[in-house]
Amino acid sequence: MNLAQQLLRPHLRDVQPYASARRSMSGGRIWLNANESPYSADYNVDTANLNRYPNFQSAELNQAYARYAGISPDQLLSHRGSDESIELLIRSFCEPGQDKILICPPTYGMYSISAGLNNTPVIKVPLQQADTVDPSDDWQLDIEGIKQQSEQVKLVFLCNPSNPIGNQLRSADIEHLLEYFAGRALVVVDEAYIEYADAASFATLLTRFDNLVVMRTLSKAFGLAGIRVGFTLANSEVINALVPVLAPYPLPDVSIQIATQALSPDNLIEVRQNVIEAQGERERLSAALTELPYVRSVLPSATNFILFRVADADAVMQFCVDAGILLRNQSSQPGLSNCLRVTVGAPAENEQLIEVLAEFANTSR
Ligand SMILES: *Cc1c(COP(=O)(O)O)cnc(C)c1O
Repeated sequence: MNLAQQLLRPHLRDVQPYASARRSMSGGRIWLNANESPYSADYNVDTANLNRYPNFQSAELNQAYARYAGISPDQLLSHRGSDESIELLIRSFCEPGQDKILICPPTYGMYSISAGLNNTPVIKVPLQQADTVDPSDDWQLDIEGIKQQSEQVKLVFLCNPSNPIGNQLRSADIEHLLEYFAGRALVVVDEAYIEYADAASFATLLTRFDNLVVMRTLSKAFGLAGIRVGFTLANSEVINALVPVLAPYPLPDVSIQIATQALSPDNLIEVRQNVIEAQGERERLSAALTELPYVRSVLPSATNFILFRVADADAVMQFCVDAGILLRNQSSQPGLSNCLRVTVGAPAENEQLIEVLAEFANTSR
């Protein structure tokens, strides 16, 4: 064992870094593997105060996001992406080696990564596949399973709309869990993709549930993954509990400036237009995928990505990579063998993707 390994905290010895889309694949011309917006807008950066530390929280930014989310600024904390929210919640509420988090796979990878870094046990209660014909019954919460394994759970992470499935969880189920965990655990609803869904945000229920937390980000619909801005929405008591755990200068001044501009009324209209385009492209792309002979199923999506099952995911991935198109293979997630996830790109990108996938049908015939 080398010195670093010898000194390392034991629970960190086997930790692998998160295999993010950017880390696990490079090159390519068309990036459809990280659910980013295909568009980057122009912003003005004022350099007059870059010699100064930024504020802990920007009142201007928080007011703008609170207005956008329909909440009050004291129900909001801004920080480095919504990934930092996961980290803050676990560090604030889970005693290492003792208190647990509960997740419902297949789901976003960072919940268990952050838990692992903090030596927090992870309870997994998989989403359930239904045997009904209605696809909206598929991949829903296993309420009974969650209740059975809820002991010593402090945080329940629900991704809604879900990544990587793309569906919406039933609101009634989430409300049921908020009531079930009242007084003993926080239910965290990760709404990274809420703009693409035609559903109401759980943020509107903050006044009703003191154990509700909603995570939001500018990385997806706002097209600002590069500035790393996310938000925790919760009642002020929860926000106040997170404040001491957050770094003194969480957001760079440049990020605060750009995020504030992104929330201007004019830009919000632009964001909305991009979302409408993405929704249209999503339906067009879904229809095209369904037509391909080797595509087994295409899951309904309320997000800016589509999960689809093919005969041989590795072969399709490799063919796309050779053609310069990056997708994300989800085959290692429970229940998702031979499933690929593709981000809805700009119309021309989607067009090229469809062409390449059609070509694969010809070569593999
Ligand atoms: C992309 C994504 C995030 C990460 O957002 P950042 O704000 O960029 O950290 C969080 N949750 C889910 C489900 C995501 O897909």
